[in-house]
Amino acid sequence: MKIQFENKNLIVFESAIFRTSSILFHNEEIIFLVDPNYLPIEIAFIQKKVESIRKNQAVYLLYTHSDYDHIVGSECFDADKTIASQLFSTFKDKQMKAVSDFDISLYVKRPKRLNFPTISNVISEEGQSIKTNSNTFTFYFAPGHTADGLITLVEPENYLFVGDYLSNIEFPFIEDCPIKYLATLDKIEKIVNTNDIQLLVVGHGDHIHTKEEMLQRIANSREYINLIANITNDELFSHFPRGLSKKYPFFESVKEHHHKNVKLIREKITNKQV
Ligand SMILES: [Zn+2]
Repeated sequence: MKIQFENKNLIVFESAIFRTSSILFHNEEIIFLVDPNYLPIEIAFIQKKVESIRKNQAVYLLYTHSDYDHIVGSECFDADKTIASQLFSTFKDKQMKAVSDFDISLYVKRPKRLNFPTISNVISEEGQSIKTNSNTFTFYFAPGHTADGLITLVEPENYLFVGDYLSNIEFPFIEDCPIKYLATLDKIEKIVNTNDIQLLVVGHGDHIHTKEEMLQRIANSREYINLIANITNDELFSHFPRGLSKKYPFFESVKEHHHKNVKLIREKITNKQV
């Protein structure tokens, strides 16, 4: 499995499927694992890493949101705490069907039958935190992509895990609401502007170290939504998709998400049907 980034207390793994990331933050006290995924051989690779690092630390497992590509590792780690937002479990049936359909389409066999994750620490308040002796993990609601998104700030290291926002390989996928999506971008911008973020990890694509690039990714996502909200129908179907296929390498295979976005943004922001 590809290791996209590694330092003394953090590893970012990258799946061959959707370039989805899994994060392993660790120190003497805690092993904090985020969205372990996707192929069984990749999850086994992450398990081995955890085993090699684990002495007697507590294992925390966080789900950034319930999308099927982010929950498939749930049976493979013996976690002391599992963390997700309050709306996470409302997506159970939809996501269990999605993972099953996707695995069947790729002939993926899993060593353990997958159950939807049970959550021990439900995040029900904005800014709720979990403290250990050496760290504070603060959670922020991040609706827009999905209603149950969660952003995590790890202090004092100032690492930020944003789930499926700020990807450099995907335009915004808006499954929930474009207005909320824009508000979540504002929230990430505020966190980036008020904390000296050392590393920002996204759900799909490349992590970021510089504030300049973090702000640039936020600007790119905003620009995509605002352009769709404001351009004419002619422009929307002529040169705009060509620009997107140049900017996003997998655009052709995910363009139905773009079409869904267009419909939603025109309904909710522009008030103009297409
Ligand atoms: Zn995802």
